[in-house]
Amino acid sequence: LAHTTAIEALNGRLNAYITPMPDKALDAATKADAALAVGEAPVLTGIPLGVKDLFCTDGVKTTAASKILANFIPPYESTVTAKLLKNGAIFLGKTNLDEFAMGSANLTSAFGEVENPWHRANDPSPLVPGGSSGGSAAAVAAHLAMGATGTDTGGSIRQPAAYCGIVGLKPTYGRCSRWGTIAFASSLDQAGPMTRTVEDAAIMLGAMAGHDPKDSTSANLPVPDYRAACGRSLKGLRVGIPAEYRASGMSEEILAVWQKGIDMLREAGCEIVDVSLPHTKYGLATYYIIAPAECSSNLARYDGVRFGVRAEGATSLDEMYEKTRHDGFGEEVRRRILVGTYVLSAGYYDAYYLKAQKVRTLIRRDFTEAFEKVDVLLTPTAPTAAFRRDEKPVDPVQMYLNDVFTVPASMAGQPGMSLPIGLDSQGLPLGLQLIGRHFDEETLIAVGSGLE
Ligand code: GLN
Repeated sequence: LAHTTAIEALNGRLNAYITPMPDKALDAATKADAALAVGEAPVLTGIPLGVKDLFCTDGVKTTAASKILANFIPPYESTVTAKLLKNGAIFLGKTNLDEFAMGSANLTSAFGEVENPWHRANDPSPLVPGGSSGGSAAAVAAHLAMGATGTDTGGSIRQPAAYCGIVGLKPTYGRCSRWGTIAFASSLDQAGPMTRTVEDAAIMLGAMAGHDPKDSTSANLPVPDYRAACGRSLKGLRVGIPAEYRASGMSEEILAVWQKGIDMLREAGCEIVDVSLPHTKYGLATYYIIAPAECSSNLARYDGVRFGVRAEGATSLDEMYEKTRHDGFGEEVRRRILVGTYVLSAGYYDAYYLKAQKVRTLIRRDFTEAFEKVDVLLTPTAPTAAFRRDEKPVDPVQMYLNDVFTVPASMAGQPGMSLPIGLDSQGLPLGLQLIGRHFDEETLIAVGSGLE
């Protein structure tokens, strides 16, 4: 009830939820009380969560923040949300995001922008919550949920977590099933928890993760007891500081927070090691070829026939497709589809897409080599703190630069976690990112809990 009341009071301003579900949540809470009374209570019993509106929820509208899916009610539940429900979680509603998870500031949702609950000390102007899981991040930061699901393709869990001062964990690609999650870029998309503490993230990940025969890319590996990794000794752990993340004219304040993280880990007994990830500088360019290419293919299914909205008044099938897609997709999504079809087209495939795949291999190799020397990497999550909504860059490429520190780990499939570490001089949260070996989320959790 505390959460549904808070949503009622604050969602008008924050716009963190597209579809709040107060009645369903309260109903589920009564059942959870009953389960607790008889002692049949799985780990998340009664825990109220937000669900990014990219996860299909049985019988509940799932929009991907797009007009084209404004009326889509899936007849099935995504694997991740089904697992959370099975573990007793209560869903408070579906949270806002950038349309089809494409964006870094939650400015492209067809259902309005999300506001970051934080403000600069002397400036009440609304700030962006980051993106694309900005609704989830804002909801968790403002106590409109105890935790929320996010998805991360190139940083969409970690960057909004940093902007909103919460914990965001992107697991290894393949750790959580993608089944029933609306696809953006299938070789990169990964679901994960967004919470206020590392321990909450550990508990939630344990409930979401695991092999799923319905997703051939989900890994058939046992899910460890993530919670047990909290508070583990960090003595002797080797922490890598990648030189390339220092480059791009970063602010003094971010550098200071990074140093603070290094000092804390050194004090905890870690060995700090300088490492190099030489292909980092190609990360963004490569990502913004591969992600649009995969998105152009994934979004081909929204044709007005099988899912969602169909445009009225067309006189032929082709016209219906065109009108539906023109009216249904927003500007950023259309831009990505155009870029994607271009880089995949016959004349340009080798020059762009194939080359990007080769560079992706080099980026992956950088991480493999670094993880021969160290157990975990520590970097800033984003190059800036949350910025003002009215300061959003006009050039889309400028916006893409926000993802510079998160994209490389996505390209290599590594797990990554953003942690709130400190505040800048304006009183805004700054995040640090931990990147780990494949399927070693435990080390992220252990180090993360040491940095709390
Ligand atoms: N900001 C990145 C993009 O726009 C990442 C989005 C994501 O991770 N879903 O593609």
